[in-house]
Amino acid sequence: MGGAIVAGNWKMHGTKQRALRFCQALGRADIRAEVEVVVFPPMAYLSLFAAATGGLAVELGAQDLHPLPEGPRTGDISGAMIAELGGRWALAGHSERRIHHGEDDALVAAKVGAALAAGLKPMLCVGETLEQRQANQAEAVVARQLRAVLDAVGVAWLSQGAIAYEPVWAIGAGVTAAPGQAEAMHGMIREWAASQGAQAVRVLYGGSVNQENAAELFSQPNINGGLVGGASLDAGSFLAIVAAAG
Ligand code: PEP
Repeated sequence: MGGAIVAGNWKMHGTKQRALRFCQALGRADIRAEVEVVVFPPMAYLSLFAAATGGLAVELGAQDLHPLPEGPRTGDISGAMIAELGGRWALAGHSERRIHHGEDDALVAAKVGAALAAGLKPMLCVGETLEQRQANQAEAVVARQLRAVLDAVGVAWLSQGAIAYEPVWAIGAGVTAAPGQAEAMHGMIREWAASQGAQAVRVLYGGSVNQENAAELFSQPNINGGLVGGASLDAGSFLAIVAAAG
């Protein structure tokens, strides 16, 4: 298993100027080799990020991709296009896509397969809603989301890619899972993956991670870093979170 990963998901935020300033700040930072840093900018800025982070210990990814390699799918982006623009990763299954774009487990699995076919490392997001947690279904929901993908594409990719546990109720909410609560789910995910034959899995936590709570979350034995939304937009706070994983 590799070291920790800290990934920033810019969602649909930013401008060219902001992206450039962010990359310049990454360039001035001393990123420790044991932390893999990944940024998922808006697709419109992927080329800009690729040009501005060339030579830095930072990998880039896409927030979404289409499951087909090409075709009549207006507005969509293929894995090969992402790779050609400098992307190395692809998010799949982010709750905002599940909720706002109606993505179900089968589509998420197809997207993970498409990422792999294009040579991209998938970062698979899983997580339960508040209602599901309150109904004691959190583990069952996460297990179902994982099973759908692993049944479709196997487990071998997990040693290169990653799983991000992102409780939906903690995303963009300013509320984070308690470290023990997150750790319990991460332990379950790791055990489940091991039972499927995947021993080397990195399981990131996502949901209102910031520079105040990152160190405690990342110190949990089964938390291997984070997927960071809002706090990744500011280079200073993102780099502080990266430092908390080192
Ligand atoms: C995310 O978008 O994956 C995320 C975790 O967002 P936030 O950190 O803003 O909760």
